[in-house]
Amino acid sequence: MKKGFFFDMDGVLFDSMPNHARAWEIVMARHGLHFTKRDCYLQEGCTSRDVIQNAYRQQKPDVQISLEDVEAFYREKGEMFIELGGAKPMRGVYDVLKAIQAMPDTQIWVVTGSAQTTLLDQLNSAFPGIFARERMITAFECPHGKPRPEPYLKAWERSGLKKEECCVIENAPLGLQAARAADLFTIVVNTGPLVYEDFAPWKPDAFLPDMKALLDYLPNLV
Ligand code: MG
Repeated sequence: MKKGFFFDMDGVLFDSMPNHARAWEIVMARHGLHFTKRDCYLQEGCTSRDVIQNAYRQQKPDVQISLEDVEAFYREKGEMFIELGGAKPMRGVYDVLKAIQAMPDTQIWVVTGSAQTTLLDQLNSAFPGIFARERMITAFECPHGKPRPEPYLKAWERSGLKKEECCVIENAPLGLQAARAADLFTIVVNTGPLVYEDFAPWKPDAFLPDMKALLDYLPNLV
């Protein structure tokens, strides 16, 4: 029986990936770099610094970019994301969260590489009554992000639960990789344009198309 539910944020709690992908595509193009929406979805979970540096390394190996350049690039991308409309709550996920909360002795966590200081406010306004500061693992708690297992291991340790009582909900291949490296049961809800083959190397325990399917799947976990 599952008691600890570890939710990824982008592409799971918030439908933020379309605007992240569009923002990356636009700002990369401004800097003369080719970057598709699929690239964005495949790299979701990498730090933004890595995304920028990898693009330069692969496409403009002769160009030296400083950390200040990387920061400026990242700010530009963040501004574009806001300009495009930012993120809305993922359709159907609040029903999933409320159903889990109604199950006995459950804990709901958010496990994200995000470093937004207003994250808890955003979560509380989108999903009132679900999240608490002490059940959040962010880039502040865990500088070594996905695909390393540390963020999910930290949530598991703090939950006080057995590993077999925990369940990760992810949308990204690198997030799945992190959860599997932490040896946790993992459900992929494929809310973007990727296909099963993009996730297959890390063998998700369940692969579902949307939050309605996750809601229907919950009875299997109790
Ligand atoms: Mg995600």
